[in-house]
Amino acid sequence: MSEILIRGAACVVTMNDRREEISGGDILVRDGEIAAVGTGLTTTGATVSASGCVVTPGLVNTHHHLYQSLTRAVPGAQDALLFGWLETLYPIWGRMGPGDIRVSALAGLAELALSGCTLTSDHLYLYPNGARLDDTIDAAREIGLRFHPTRGAMSIGESAGGLPPDSLVENEHEILEDCIRVIDSFHDSNPGAMIRVGVAPCSPFSVSRELMRDAALLARDKGVMLHTHLAENAEDIAYSMARFGCRPGQYAEELGWTGPDVWHAHCVMLDAPEIALFARTRTGVAHCPCSNCRLGSGIAPVRAMRDAGVSVGLGVDGSASNDSGNLVAEARQAMLLQRVARGADAMSAREALEIATRGGAAVLGRDDCGRIAPGMRADIAIWDVSGVESAGSWDPAALLLAGPTRVRDLYVEGRAVVRDGEVATIDLPAVLADQRRRAAALAGI
Ligand SMILES: [Zn+2]
Repeated sequence: MSEILIRGAACVVTMNDRREEISGGDILVRDGEIAAVGTGLTTTGATVSASGCVVTPGLVNTHHHLYQSLTRAVPGAQDALLFGWLETLYPIWGRMGPGDIRVSALAGLAELALSGCTLTSDHLYLYPNGARLDDTIDAAREIGLRFHPTRGAMSIGESAGGLPPDSLVENEHEILEDCIRVIDSFHDSNPGAMIRVGVAPCSPFSVSRELMRDAALLARDKGVMLHTHLAENAEDIAYSMARFGCRPGQYAEELGWTGPDVWHAHCVMLDAPEIALFARTRTGVAHCPCSNCRLGSGIAPVRAMRDAGVSVGLGVDGSASNDSGNLVAEARQAMLLQRVARGADAMSAREALEIATRGGAAVLGRDDCGRIAPGMRADIAIWDVSGVESAGSWDPAALLLAGPTRVRDLYVEGRAVVRDGEVATIDLPAVLADQRRRAAALAGI
């Protein structure tokens, strides 16, 4: 039996069912699980002081493309809308290989960890030069984050009227075969799982109607979740109307892509009937505010979604369209964006933090993460609020209204992944040096 006592936090923001906040709070962790939360707790194991810190559940990231950490701030893609942005980047991504995918994932996961993230999904939808989903899973195991990789795919290339070059698309039969392989190899449906695999055709504009339908059938047969991009911007809606004769929500519903085991990224352009559909079917949304701003896609109707009862989590999205992967900063942006759209009372800091923690956990189908409560997994972020970013603050809400944007310590399954502001599980400087070499090689420098 191993125990850790996190003791004497300025405030433990539990995000439990009563949304309790405990001044001077302690958390007792036993064998990767939260054993007790309160004050005056004791242990015979190790003690970690959280004096001067706000302690929150680990943040949950519901949408990412970790391979894109190698293509940040690419000049030709900096100011383009979604479709033009994709057409600039596809040829660059086509030059990547397994080592690039792995190192890019490792750097992206480190960035997430430093910003408070303990559980992340990833959407890998291209597999150039022998790359496999396994490359990202290796990276997640090495750094120690809880990981929900999704086996993405593209099958409609340029010659068939799709957007990606033919060299980046795969045969649909082989896509489904590889989905089965990675689910059988890596998916863990047990409580406390560190790896859960999902099935994730890239978007309705890059795969066929048949693959969308078959992917849903396969996922249900295997008991795994489904993920894709949906209703991201006006171009996306126009494509859906022109090609399928219906809006994205209707297309998704017809092909089995609604339900509590489905979550869609972006959903910026969902209309009222689609929001009602998502609420009725308990379909989840990965809200990616920075990416939506960066690509000029619009402001997702998150207030309306939440009011209707839609399950919403946060996503940083890939680093070719954010280009930051800082999840607590993303939560702040989510809060600010709803205020721009709807007024200063449209979203509180606490609600944004709720979306970033238990909201994301619900979207990913995890009832064992996203809260600090007995029986939950010990995924915990400790934020030092004694520094300059939040000096003079009156309330834990300062974490989102002010800062910091980097954790002091981060625990995943009771294991320290970040300690004293540094990643404790990998040699990050070596990873970043490798990352720089690989980015320069891709750029042809
Ligand atoms: Zn995306």
